[in-house]
This record gives sequence, structure tokens and C-alpha cells, in this order.
Amino acid sequence: MTLAVRGVSWVFAYLGVVIAPLVFAAIGAGEPHHGFWTNFSVALAFTGLAMMGLEFALVARFRSVAAPFGQDGLLQFHRQIGLAGLAFVGVHVAISTRWHAVPTSAALRAPALVWFGVAAAAAVVVLVVTSVWRRWLRLSYELWHVAHTVLAVVAVACALVHVYLINEHPGLASYVGTLWKQLLWGLMSAAFISLLGWVRVIRPLARRGRPWRLERVGRERGQTTTLVLTPPPGEPFRFDPGQFAWFTFGRSPFSLTPHPFSFSSSAERNEVEIAVRALGDFTSRIGELAPGTKVYVDGPHGVFSIDADEGPGFCFIAGGVGITGLLSMLRTMADRADVRPAILIYANRDWENAAFRDELGRLQERMTLSVVHVLERPPANWPGEAGYVTRDILSRHLPPGYRRLQFFICGPAPMMDAAQNALLDLGVPGERVHTERFTMV
Ligand SMILES: Cc1cc2nc3c(=O)[nH]c(=O)nc-3n(C[C@H](O)[C@H](O)[C@H](O)COP(=O)(O)OP(=O)(O)OC[C@H]3O[C@@H](n4cnc5c(N)ncnc54)[C@H](O)[C@@H]3O)c2cc1C
Repeated sequence: MTLAVRGVSWVFAYLGVVIAPLVFAAIGAGEPHHGFWTNFSVALAFTGLAMMGLEFALVARFRSVAAPFGQDGLLQFHRQIGLAGLAFVGVHVAISTRWHAVPTSAALRAPALVWFGVAAAAAVVVLVVTSVWRRWLRLSYELWHVAHTVLAVVAVACALVHVYLINEHPGLASYVGTLWKQLLWGLMSAAFISLLGWVRVIRPLARRGRPWRLERVGRERGQTTTLVLTPPPGEPFRFDPGQFAWFTFGRSPFSLTPHPFSFSSSAERNEVEIAVRALGDFTSRIGELAPGTKVYVDGPHGVFSIDADEGPGFCFIAGGVGITGLLSMLRTMADRADVRPAILIYANRDWENAAFRDELGRLQERMTLSVVHVLERPPANWPGEAGYVTRDILSRHLPPGYRRLQFFICGPAPMMDAAQNALLDLGVPGERVHTERFTMV
């Protein structure tokens, strides 16, 4: 099946799951006392709940789901659906409190149905607020991630209980009352629990018996550390150059917060390398890891690869540590004796911190590669490009017929946005511009 067909199938499957509870609730729910607003409110809640349940599937790292859309695309969608879910829940709560108001004095004696609904809605609000304003709230990624997971489970679990309790409410029972409607909700709940079990228990359990080994640790320029890893004996590992994986170093495979890193080595070699820049608490200590450390690897993931988007030649645009996946593509091309032309525009703060610059020089001797360094703070008498990656810099260095190349961009978000816009401005078709963002939240 082609990626496009797979993508369309997933979209239909998604819409099917979102709409199914709505259709089921609508059939036979036309009791006269319900009225438009009650029906509307229930419709929003059912759709919102299905969307929230599917949020887990979007970030469950299923390769077949991510393949047509890319990990970035799925994450963007996950964020937008989170906001839409909040809006659906908000309107549902507003309508329900307007039409089925519980006086404040009786709030404590409100039925369990109300309490589970309130708990689900509150969890969704906190979930969205802490995600949108994580940095402003100064939440570390690890704390945010654990809280996000727990709140999401609480929200969906409480919402499901809220739905089951509707059955005990004489005015509303017809929305979920019949056997086949209960079967549907039972199926949805089972799917949700199985998904959780699969992602948090079965997959880590499978990884536990197959740890990787950290072989060597090497220092690079720009506070970057190269880690050389070997897969479990007898399990050769294949990845496409440019892909990434989730890594857990020296901790349990059940650890909630693994870290994503792109492979930096050639996809044609047996040893696997990643290169990590010290940017925070975890990455600053990664150089202290001792050879022999057990590593758990969930991957490969991603579609940011010359193997996924073939072309007559390639233009790579890297900013800082964004070089890692692009370096993997270049190393792989050199090992494959790929003669297609490649140009690398490589932006760094200064010359000293340009990681792998010596190796890039050597790669130019093994393949048709030109490297353009762009330095934010160039040394005196620097003959090359200075400042940021701009439309002017790109148009100075792109070869004739550049619109037919495949473009791969990875680096800090502002650089990526600027480079992407400049390329579109220069007439490069959007489908030839591929990006990988290192910041998920
Ligand atoms: C697809 C992808 C590929 C990446 N490839 C590389 C690479 O090849 N080399 C490299 O040096 N970095 C890479 N990164 C970035 C790297 O994962 C983060 O810099 C690292 O996890 C930061 O951890 P920290 O605790 O040191 O920093 P912190 O200061 O805790 O975090 C800095 C930022 O990194 C992100 N982050 C932190 N922890 C995680 C986590 N567990 N999962 C996801 N994001 C997190 C958050 O946005 C956070 O704001 C990649 C990221 C992604 C998404």
C-alpha cells in the first residue's frame, strides 16, 4: 500500500472512531424531553471523549501510523486536537450546568455522575494549560511529561465512568442504555486500556530482555558527545539515515521519560552512533555515562530521510546540533558511493563550536558535496557567510535547477521557520521541504 493510501485510510479510521459514538447515541435518543441543547451537549461530549482517547494513539509511536504523516505532523495534530477537545468539553460543561444546574448548596451531594464529569473536565483544563504554558510555568520537561500522562489517563478514565453513570440517570439513560450501545462503550474502554497496557507495559517488557550496550563515548566540538552503541547480540539493527529513536540510559525500560535522539552514523554500518549536545540537565551529564551501560532503544522512528524522499540531489540545512540526522544522511551517501550532488548549509554560533566540521571536510573528498558554513559570530577575516540563514544566502549558494532537489532542514525553531519560508519564497515546492523539530513541547 502506498503511503498516500495508508494516510487516507488512517484519516477515515480516525473519523470513524470519532463519529461512531455520536451515531450510536443518536440512534434512538430522540426522546422529546431531551431537546436540542441536551442532544448537542451529549454529542460534543461523546465526540470530545473519542478524540481524547485517540490522543493516546497519536503519540503511541506506532510506526505505521506515523509513516504517512511524519512524527512532527502527528504531534501538531495531537496539540490541535487537545485544544479542540478542551473547547468541546467546555461547551458541554457550560450547556450541562445551564440545563441541569445543581444548586451550590447541593453540590456536595451531587451524584457521582457529576463528580466524575467535573474531575474529567478539570483534568483536561490542567492538561492543556500546563502544555501551552509549560515554559512560562517553569515546569521541567520530565515533570510536565509525567503529569501530562497521569492527567490524560485520569481525564479519559473519569469521562468513561461519567458515560457509564449516565445509565443510572433516568432522563439520560437512552443515550447509552441499550445493550449494543454499552457494547460500543465497553469496546472503546477496552481499546483504551489495551493501548495503555501495550505502550506502558508490553513494549517495555519486550525491550527489557534486549538491552543495547554503550560501547564508547567520544567528545566533539560544541559541547557535543558521540555515543557508540551496539544492539543486542544476534539482532542486527536497520534504520533509514535521518531517523531517530527514544533512548533510556542505565534506567528501567519502564521509565516514563526516554529521550529522543537522531542517529548520526551511517545507516550502512553495524555500529550505531548518536551525537548529543549539552542543552539541559540530562544532556549535560550524558558524557559521564560509562561504557557497558545498558541502553533501551525504542525505534527507529520518523520519515525525515533521503530514503523516504528520493530526488536528483539534496540540500541539507542544519543549525547547531540539528546536524546529527543530516550527518547520518551524508555519511550514508558516502558509504553508498552515491554520486548525487549534495549541498550542506551549516549554521553555527561560531567556528569553534561547529561540531563535525573536520569530518565534513573529509566527506567532501568522498562525495559530491559542497559545505557552506554560516557563522553568527565569525572570527576576524572570515571569508564565508555570516549572520543567520537567509533567502539571500540560500540564493547565493543553491545550484541551478535547485527547485528539483529535496530539502531537509533541522535546527532551532526560528532558523527552521526562516529557512523554510525562504525556500518557499524561492519557488521550492512545499512537498520537497522536509523538517525535523527537536522541540516537542
Ligand atoms: C526527533 C528528535 C530528535 C532529536 N535528536 C537530537 C540529537 O540528535 N541530538 C541532540 O543533542 N538532541 C536531539 N534532540 C533533542 C533532545 O531530545 C533534547 O535536547 C533532550 O532530550 C533535552 O533533555 P535535557 O533533560 O538535557 O534538557 P531539558 O532542559 O530538560 O530540556 C530541553 C528541551 O528538550 C525537550 N526535552 C527534554 N526532555 C525531553 C524528552 N525526554 N523527550 C522529548 N523532548 C525532551 C523539551 O522541549 C525541553 O524544553 C532531538 C529531539 C527530537 C524530538
